[in-house]
Amino acid sequence: MKYNSIAEIVEEAENCGKKISEIVLEEQSKALEVSENEIFERMKNSLEVMKASVEEGIKSNKRSISGLTGGSAAKMKNYVDSGLSICGNVFGEALVKALAISETNACMGKIVAAPTAGSCGILPAAVLTVMEEKNIDTDTIVKSLFTASAFGIVIAKNASISGAEGGCQAECGSASAMAAAALTEICGGSAKMCAHACAISLKNILGLVCDPVAGLVEIPCIKRNAMGVSNAFVGAELALAGIESAIPVDEVIMAMKKIGNSMPSSLKETAEGGLAATPTAKELTKKVFG
Ligand code: SF4
Repeated sequence: MKYNSIAEIVEEAENCGKKISEIVLEEQSKALEVSENEIFERMKNSLEVMKASVEEGIKSNKRSISGLTGGSAAKMKNYVDSGLSICGNVFGEALVKALAISETNACMGKIVAAPTAGSCGILPAAVLTVMEEKNIDTDTIVKSLFTASAFGIVIAKNASISGAEGGCQAECGSASAMAAAALTEICGGSAKMCAHACAISLKNILGLVCDPVAGLVEIPCIKRNAMGVSNAFVGAELALAGIESAIPVDEVIMAMKKIGNSMPSSLKETAEGGLAATPTAKELTKKVFG
């Protein structure tokens, strides 16, 4: 992708009077020498995989191969369906979907890494929830994935989307920021608002470490996907209300990179620190690996 910053993407979208997704689709078509229609269809297929991973996660109710996790999405679904959810259907359904996709991943099911397997529940849960709850058409949702992708590529270029390199802020943080931008565009926000949504959500997760118990992408990862989709809604809602991030999004990304560089390796997917080093985590690790 030719863009190196989110500011460049926003500027081009504003100059052309187009949505971010439209200029990204055009740009990718030229860069890859593939028709816009074909690229769109490929993204549509990804959306179908996302949908299937939600269904699989809710209905299977099975434990992961390690036995550490499973069944949370089904429990959450029962709770939301009972009408007891404090925050109502949109939020409740988003949590169900984030848990379902992450549990599908933990069971080695098929998911879309968006941007990674560890954070795979966040972006799909965000866009599929508004699609269902607000009756948004499929094309709008597919297009929003191009906006999310472009922002993710800029984050990967200038910082990282890998927990092993930048901590969980780089995985769940990036996914949450990408989802915030997508939600903002779906709900009619401007290109600038998408950038603010991305900045707000990423700022909220700065410093989050990667500390998976037993080195498996299950604890705390699955519940962090639920947190990540919640935070995406925070970023989008604030931006759509006209609230701006005081720190421009590209500077937030640079800050994330520096924070990641300062993190000790024990907090970067090595399972040597943080939650992975707690007594309970050590017990669980023994149970899994003997
Ligand atoms: S804790 Fe680490 S492995 Fe788990 S989702 Fe976050 S970055 Fe990925």
